[in-house]
Amino acid sequence: MKKHNFYAGPSILPEYTIENTAKAIKDFAGTGLSILEISHRSKQFVAVMDEAVSLFKELLKIPEGYSVLFVGGGASTQFAMIPFNIMKKKSAYLNTGAWAKKAIKEAKVFGEVDVVASSEDKNFNYIPKGYTIPADADYFHITTNNTIYGTEIREDLDCPVPLVADMSSDIFSRPVDVSKYAIIYGGAQKNLAPAGVTFVIVKNDILGKMDRVIPTMLNYQTHIEKESMFNTPPCLPVFSALQTLQWLKNNGGIAAMEQKNIEKADLLYNEIDRNKLFVGTVAKEDRSLMNICFVMNEEYKDLEVGFFEFATAKGMVGIKGHRSVGGFRASTYNALPKESVEVLVTAMQEFESMKG
Ligand SMILES: *Cc1c(COP(=O)(O)O)cnc(C)c1O
Repeated sequence: MKKHNFYAGPSILPEYTIENTAKAIKDFAGTGLSILEISHRSKQFVAVMDEAVSLFKELLKIPEGYSVLFVGGGASTQFAMIPFNIMKKKSAYLNTGAWAKKAIKEAKVFGEVDVVASSEDKNFNYIPKGYTIPADADYFHITTNNTIYGTEIREDLDCPVPLVADMSSDIFSRPVDVSKYAIIYGGAQKNLAPAGVTFVIVKNDILGKMDRVIPTMLNYQTHIEKESMFNTPPCLPVFSALQTLQWLKNNGGIAAMEQKNIEKADLLYNEIDRNKLFVGTVAKEDRSLMNICFVMNEEYKDLEVGFFEFATAKGMVGIKGHRSVGGFRASTYNALPKESVEVLVTAMQEFESMKG
């Protein structure tokens, strides 16, 4: 049976990415070797890295003066690397969920952290607004898409200090005005590639201003100077990321992707709002296009396991909500076909007519 993959991460990738990765595992670029066993210094792999960086820049329209890096360690290592590289005394953070809290914890190792606002009072089901960003902060950190709770900041904020964004789960889902950011980073395993590679877009002129010694591997300047080849990069995930970037380009780029994402999300949110069995968990104006969270309506609470089994029997995978929210979460990343959302919506309608 066809599976409909709603996992939050690692998550669905384009068939194009999977097929080309499988081929390269057998024979990479006509070398007669697997990509798993070839030097990262080979001209074939260097070409992969170069094209990945240049397509990244092209698709996101990244202006001059920024570097694109592919490193290991996951977004979680960036939580520490960012303050290590650019926090002198004080930073500001928006607390919109578990990932933001982890980032805040690491920043506190390096100095004073001003948490300008938090939505923890309502289990992070909205994005705080109307807060003040201190003008003396070295940077302001946001999580644009809160994968666990299904909230998203879909505009590029005007920020009086350098803006840093964790875009792990919404990179390439919408056009971004990169010029408004000092750093954009994320783990690739939500919307780009298999786990193992982390992307970092960094504005070069915010670096090199620290008094402290930064360990070589944790210094962005190392990776900029060596073009992400200071040490062995995660070769296979970088190759797969390149395939996804090519797929994005072949399918009309990010603006076209955003349109599809809006269509998919509208379809599901409309059904959540219409169907009497279900209710959305997030403030409507802050709803994510990537992770759509909903629960059973109070009076139908005992049908939760039933719907989960019903959907599973129809080939849907990964729709269980995160344990801190409960209910359901359908992740609708770029690679998820609209058809999968239609199958979920139909299942919700059928379940309502059976049980409602
Ligand atoms: C998954 C996720 C992370 C953690 O990424 P790792 O690569 O596993 O460290 C951080 N931030 C957000 C928003 C995420 O969705």
